[in-house]
Amino acid sequence: MTNRFQFNINATDGRARTGVINTPKGDIRTPAFMPVGTAATVKAMMPENVKVTGADILLGNTYHLMLRPGAERVHNLGGLHKFMNWQGPILTDSGGYQVMSLTDLRKLTEEGVKFKSHIDGSLHNLTPEYSMEIQRLLGSDIVMSFDECTPFPATEKQAKLSMDLSMRWAQRSRDAFGDRPGYALFGIQQGSTFKDMRAESADKLTNIGFDGYAVGGLAVGEGQDLMFEVLEYAPNQLPTDKPRYLMGVGKPDDIVGAVQRGIDMFDCVLPSRSGRTGQALTRRGAVNMRNSRHRDDQRPLDESCECPCCKNYSRAYLHHVHKAGEIISSMLLTWHNLHYYQVLMSELRQAIASNKLDSYVAEFHSIRERGDIEPI
Ligand SMILES: [Zn+2]
Repeated sequence: MTNRFQFNINATDGRARTGVINTPKGDIRTPAFMPVGTAATVKAMMPENVKVTGADILLGNTYHLMLRPGAERVHNLGGLHKFMNWQGPILTDSGGYQVMSLTDLRKLTEEGVKFKSHIDGSLHNLTPEYSMEIQRLLGSDIVMSFDECTPFPATEKQAKLSMDLSMRWAQRSRDAFGDRPGYALFGIQQGSTFKDMRAESADKLTNIGFDGYAVGGLAVGEGQDLMFEVLEYAPNQLPTDKPRYLMGVGKPDDIVGAVQRGIDMFDCVLPSRSGRTGQALTRRGAVNMRNSRHRDDQRPLDESCECPCCKNYSRAYLHHVHKAGEIISSMLLTWHNLHYYQVLMSELRQAIASNKLDSYVAEFHSIRERGDIEPI
């Protein structure tokens, strides 16, 4: 265990890297997937079971926690780790993305964003300085700088104004964060789909100096082809020796493609949210447990999966409890989905370490093309 935040790359394969981020709360093996614990819980999962799936780090949402139960309260109760019973590292977003998505409830100025709470209509003013304060009160190990996620599509002029604002906010975030040994502050690259603007943003962030860098402004509706096009250059514009985080991504094939292009960290609500809507994500692709073809099927969801859902329950049972609206449906499918994501990350790390990423990715796509097991 270290008292410092540091990143060591152990192996590379093409542009992909595998390594370890050391933090005082524990190590994060990369490429890493961070389950999303929006309101101090990964929905339908006990935190000790999230750990069992192989997760090294969780993500918490500043916007939700500042409104309920309040950052000051979490701080007074011993911090987010103690409050939610998760001892490992926690990354928090800056709140910016969720505030910006409240389109008719917010006002953007140079200072920050004024917005109305979706819970009780109360007025708040989120600034880079206040976002740093909230994330400090929560006890977040990896703090995200406050930025504007440039909407897609954006003209070159819109993207430039937005990127420049985010870079001024990045400097203010850095100044407000100060010197906190053991804690990390990440900067966020913007610039939409414009290569030169992405490079300019990367240079500005590198000059300010951060412990890690996120590629921001992607997974906002541009589609996988365009996202991969930007990832052909954007990660390489950022410092090689720091972690690179692609926010809000994604589907398993998005993650695989982004790892090939040099991304080290991911988060997405997809595995947990899908678990609550009856959708299982497997190595063979998505399987909809609502479908009545499963109702007499005694086979497990995925015969090759070692999770408790697949080892102990049939497709027929999973179909039944979902149809009946039973809570265990969300619990089992969320566990399976999070387990599958962590197996995927582990296999990617192994493939990079043994310099076999290309053949692993070919096999990944080939299995998916063969599709789900045949109905009985
Ligand atoms: Zn499973």
